[in-house]
Amino acid sequence: MGRKKLIQKIPKSVIIKCPHCTEKIKITISQDSGVFFLDCKKCKQKITTPITQCCIICAFSDKKCPRSLMIEARAKGLEIK
Ligand SMILES: [Zn+2]
Ligand SMILES: [Zn+2]
Repeated sequence: MGRKKLIQKIPKSVIIKCPHCTEKIKITISQDSGVFFLDCKKCKQKITTPITQCCIICAFSDKKCPRSLMIEARAKGLEIK
């Protein structure tokens, strides 16, 4: 009786696109939290989380942060890796 479990993978790093100068910044992410601010090395401006977004990973990368993924995984009954 092997019911296959679906797995939600948590990325180890993401590319954040700077909203000021569009520079791409690679960051490593921890397993259970979002990233809320970052300094862009190119334009020296602060990247902060928009009020309507959960974090800068959700706002400025093409991935979702571990926190969002875990909420999603729990809602769908997926196993988290
Ligand atoms: Zn920038
Ligand atoms: Zn997020």
